Amino acid sequence: MSSTIGLSAVELEQYSRHLKLPGFGLEKQLRLKSAKVLLIGAGGLGCPIGLYLAASGVGTIGVVDFDRVDRSNLQRQIAHGVDDIGQCKVDSLIASMRGINPLVTYQAHAQRLNESNVGELIRQYDLVLDGSDNFSTRFLLADACFLHRIPLLQGAVYEYEAQISLFVPGKGACYRCVFQEPPSQNALAPCAEIGVLGVVPGTAGLMMATEAIKYLSNLPCAAQGNLLIYDALAQSLRHVELSADQNCPLCGKNPTIHDVQEYQTVCPPSANEKHADASTREVNPIQAQSLLAQGAILVDVREDFEFLAGHIPNALHLPLGLLTREIDRLERAVALSLNTTILSYCQKGQRSLEATRILKSLGYQNCFSLQGGIAGWTGNIVIPT
Ligand SMILES: [Zn+2]
Repeated sequence: MSSTIGLSAVELEQYSRHLKLPGFGLEKQLRLKSAKVLLIGAGGLGCPIGLYLAASGVGTIGVVDFDRVDRSNLQRQIAHGVDDIGQCKVDSLIASMRGINPLVTYQAHAQRLNESNVGELIRQYDLVLDGSDNFSTRFLLADACFLHRIPLLQGAVYEYEAQISLFVPGKGACYRCVFQEPPSQNALAPCAEIGVLGVVPGTAGLMMATEAIKYLSNLPCAAQGNLLIYDALAQSLRHVELSADQNCPLCGKNPTIHDVQEYQTVCPPSANEKHADASTREVNPIQAQSLLAQGAILVDVREDFEFLAGHIPNALHLPLGLLTREIDRLERAVALSLNTTILSYCQKGQRSLEATRILKSLGYQNCFSLQGGIAGWTGNIVIPT
């Protein structure tokens, strides 16, 4: 039964706390009801996002995931239960959402997102929420959403940390202004291989749901134009302002990306492989201090926004994605020879390990990676003003 004001009697009751909320009310609730969102991933981020968007009364929610529930998911993917093990995650999540709110229209897409189906899928929606756990999907969505002019709310979780940002095409930075290119095969492991504190995707998912509700109901969004970095250990939330890059290959003045392209799934080397390879090249912070005292060149291989948020004194900066192409930037900055000792570091020590492999392949013989990254650094850190 529809009432004259656009909500049925059942909806008026279900959403009564929104309707009473100053600054929200009927107008915002109707905006939510008419909205269509697509949720990528029914996992750690997707579960809390899906449950809260459903509960809040977003009118149409699509969910994309090809995976099935297994027991190791239950530590954080709270829409699935023991009885759902073996079931399609999309079906299990939608069943939980429907249990909370049957008034919403649900659309199940039990498929792997790829370059041929991404455009058609996202075009049906007003907002895409990326809760995927791998770089190939993130870049595929980033490109597709920009090219189809669809806003993208992106989230990523790593161990005790989460990062969230909302990219609205034509308004400020795009995902590629910040992350340029997918890391090469060995850099940055997807969630299947790394540990994650179970509550972190929960917190991050709720932050994403909050930003989505605000975006859809036309309230200001903290994640638009900012990268929100949540640290569960410190219980801190940092806002790093993002700016558009006029040389961005996707949204810059002379873009080179005009079509979506699927990147190979990023699979990290196994722990043993990584260990065997790393044993001779990783140094702890004390060994690193000693290398620096002996004149090693220090290179920060993180992204611009990370470098600007704080770096080790005297570090040269060259993001991992640009290392092969722009090694001459280092060569210009310091007198490099193939025997120069180069110590690279990143946030936690994964990307810098990859950097040592790349540098080695370029002929540099004495390359080391700072174990634990800047996160484990006990010396000074410079925060540019
Ligand atoms: Zn861009």
